[in-house]
Amino acid sequence: MTSPNPCAIDDSYLATDTCPKHGEVQIRVIDSPFCEPGEKSTLIKGECPQCRAERIDRETAVARREREAVVLLETKRLLRDAGIPPRFASKTFAGFDADSQGARKNLRVCEAFVERFPQQLENGTTLVMTGRPGTGKTHLATAITRGVIERHGKVARYIGASDLMRSIKETYRPGSERTEREVIAEFASIDLLVVDEVGIQVGSDTEKQLMFEVFNGRYGALKPTVLLSNLTTEELGAYLGDRLMDRFREGGAVLVFDGESRRGRA
Ligand SMILES: [Zn+2]
Repeated sequence: MTSPNPCAIDDSYLATDTCPKHGEVQIRVIDSPFCEPGEKSTLIKGECPQCRAERIDRETAVARREREAVVLLETKRLLRDAGIPPRFASKTFAGFDADSQGARKNLRVCEAFVERFPQQLENGTTLVMTGRPGTGKTHLATAITRGVIERHGKVARYIGASDLMRSIKETYRPGSERTEREVIAEFASIDLLVVDEVGIQVGSDTEKQLMFEVFNGRYGALKPTVLLSNLTTEELGAYLGDRLMDRFREGGAVLVFDGESRRGRA
């Protein structure tokens, strides 16, 4: 194999070569760009194109498996930290028994909420679910939590209103490492916050104010929130303040769960 140009600068051409695996192949040959005039140029032989394609396939497959393993680990971690109660750990949209027109509509809205979660993250959509206990609110809300993690890899957290209050109030203990402001800011910054049983605690004015600050903080930061309450929409409005309820209504949906209790159902 001889170069047609004994001292080429950054030149390359195709030449026939023999690959131990693929036999006679066309490879690219590069003349050394660094040879002095009059010097014999050094030839740099390229890789067999078929060996190269196979190597890239192998590397891509390894990289893809590594990426998938990382995503899987991250999903597991996010699910572990999501706070979904064990009883609801395996609840999915597919497992929701939509036995009435209202239930089917609620299911559709919740599925669409997960489907379009990237948009909800831009708009700070709020989903309010009201209705008596046992009508499927928590089932759909935990399915949303799981869906947002599994499908979008976002941080989602399910928490009962009284646990939310407790985590804020724990900062009042002497020696607490965090301040009330920090905890409220943290709850306001999670990609999706799902708060169950809002309004169940009799609710001192301080508690109402803290709850309001969390929701209002999320509203202001355009973070989507799912809010569940056994109160009626009107009672919830009275609890959170009509102004906040109006904002929620504007930038999201209020789902009413009015079916029979599902608890104890076969
Ligand atoms: Zn080869």
